[in-house]
Amino acid sequence: MSVAPQQIEAPELPLSVVIPIFNEEGNIESLHKELTAALTAIGRDYEVIAINDGSQDRSHEMLNAVQARDERWHIIHFRRNFGQTAALAAGFDAARGEVVVTIDADLQNDPRDIEMILDKFAEGYDIVSGWRQNRKESLFLRRIPSMLANRLISRSTGIKLHDYGCTLKAYDFDVVKGVQLYGELHRFIPALASQMGVRVAEVPVKDRSRHWGSSKYGFGRTFKVILDLIVVVFVLSYFNRPLYVFGAAGFLVGGIGALLGAYLTVFKLLTENKIGDRPLLQLAALLMVLGVQLISTGIVADMLMRTYHESQHKPIYFIRERKRTEKAGEDSLFPGN
Ligand code: UDP
Ligand code: MG
Repeated sequence: MSVAPQQIEAPELPLSVVIPIFNEEGNIESLHKELTAALTAIGRDYEVIAINDGSQDRSHEMLNAVQARDERWHIIHFRRNFGQTAALAAGFDAARGEVVVTIDADLQNDPRDIEMILDKFAEGYDIVSGWRQNRKESLFLRRIPSMLANRLISRSTGIKLHDYGCTLKAYDFDVVKGVQLYGELHRFIPALASQMGVRVAEVPVKDRSRHWGSSKYGFGRTFKVILDLIVVVFVLSYFNRPLYVFGAAGFLVGGIGALLGAYLTVFKLLTENKIGDRPLLQLAALLMVLGVQLISTGIVADMLMRTYHESQHKPIYFIRERKRTEKAGEDSLFPGN
């Protein structure tokens, strides 16, 4: 029997802070200072995991210097630039905190807001997301595309957030260990995690201007986000049994085709008119073929899902909590709890 990964690992300390870093040499010192002050004020034991995503400036040396002074900081240096999502994924893999907070290195988020996020988290949520107020970025290039994207994502995933793009978020340990990230998918974690049955809350946070340097993204990101959204919607709606979705569409389309075909047959038999030149005949044939194809696509997709679940031991359920009275001398049935 296989055990799902999230049942084996258990958090080892209260808080992890994960920071993706790409060419941020001018921000690292202030980041360390502001973050240390904010986290000390919170008063929990913590670790910071900084991922150097293939920076070409002096971020490498500067991060190592911070790590030499402050053993709570762990640094992961990528071989090259793999992107913000990959950096966050590496941070999630390494994180040992009960709560995992993500924040940008450019200090656009205020580290002092972490406390508020954690307070909300303590009310019993699995994800708490920052919602940037009074955004400083350009209206047409950033804020309007971002507003439209947030509406679109909220509508199509059913998880309503005003600000999917805000990196300042807090996640439960099991959530970060349970989501698979690639592409630009990190902004969709709340949506992806929704299939685990997570409780999501949003907290207004400050938005500041970038402390130093310039943004790593341009308008082009909007298209990647939209393409990723299509994948997310697909994953969310067809996840467990794609055959049901494709099969239903196949029966509908094929059924209409069959009805049209039956009508034409009866028409020909009763009236002895020719039906060979009727466009309706072509439509009937087309719909019936389409129906068969949809159903077979569903079967193929279903087999893919089966491979996915079985080869990677993916659970088809997610557990929030277990309660059971352990009797003396009995082996724990629930490892990791
Ligand atoms: N970042 C990264 N890899 C990349 C691009 C960005 O690790 O390929 C980091 C970057 O250093 C910053 C965060 O991701 O800490 C957000 O990037 P940025 O501030 O450029 O994005 P914006 O705030 O403009 O959306
Ligand atoms: Mg930024």
